[in-house]
Amino acid sequence: MQNQYEARYSRRTKQPKSGYTTRLAIFLFLLAVIGVLSVFSAIQYLTMQSLQQNLDSLENKLKNVEQENRKLEEQYNRLYEENEKLRKENKMMRSETVIEHGNRETNKVAITIDDGAGAVLINRTLDYLKEYDVQATLFPMGSWVEREPEVWRRAVEEGHELGNHTYSHPFLTRINEEKVQEELKGWQEAVSEALGYSYQTYFFRPPYGDGFYSNRSSYTARIKEIAAEQGMFTILWDVEVVYALRNQPYTPARITSHVLANARGGSIVLLHFSTADIDALPNILAGLRERGLEPCSLSELLLAEPQT
Ligand SMILES: [Zn+2]
Repeated sequence: MQNQYEARYSRRTKQPKSGYTTRLAIFLFLLAVIGVLSVFSAIQYLTMQSLQQNLDSLENKLKNVEQENRKLEEQYNRLYEENEKLRKENKMMRSETVIEHGNRETNKVAITIDDGAGAVLINRTLDYLKEYDVQATLFPMGSWVEREPEVWRRAVEEGHELGNHTYSHPFLTRINEEKVQEELKGWQEAVSEALGYSYQTYFFRPPYGDGFYSNRSSYTARIKEIAAEQGMFTILWDVEVVYALRNQPYTPARITSHVLANARGGSIVLLHFSTADIDALPNILAGLRERGLEPCSLSELLLAEPQT
């Protein structure tokens, strides 16, 4: 009886002790949970703060970009307007201008060579030009370029310019506007195809000078306009040999002396890819230099500053 009582008593006195441990454990557990949660929320807070900072700096950057963008847009609009103005001026100039020679106050003389020939003669021409370190302007027909594209590629690679001399060399005053357009575009396509990229020329030379030196009519103005619409100036010449020597033996010596007697600063010399003309070419280039003149391409002549 006694023992039973004691046992019950001792259970009773032990109970509060075990309850205290449990509560302490729960308390510590809760404390730990609170601690972990606090650490978590502290981390979260810090992360949020740094994200906010990033956001703020991104916003600032965006504002800067927007500002720059506005500036660029203004610049673009200004340039666009200027460009439009220049384009109009250019078009008016191109359709109103026929160029027979450049500025007379330079010592430059443009060498232009028309039509076309087989690769042998073209390569010989390019060899001479290379030997004399001269860049020239060549006016092949599109059909010639189509036939042997590699020689014309060589010409452009060596710094020579190509000008539009139509695709098939018709008398332009004898064909309608649509055909004139086709002839000029046909040249453009043949040359771009041969070179492998869209080639831009500023120069158009009418076959036979038709419409300009002969058959001048209101149609001439329209032909000029069509060339201008395609971005080209009409280029004629002030020194040529075929017509000038028509009643004389057509020899390299006569060709050379005629060109050297007539070319002066600003001249545009017209030669052709004929054996006689190309035979004369080295002496023409050397002779011009002996006279203090500098053979060059059309661009070089037309952009030359006057000499003082
Ligand atoms: Zn021609």
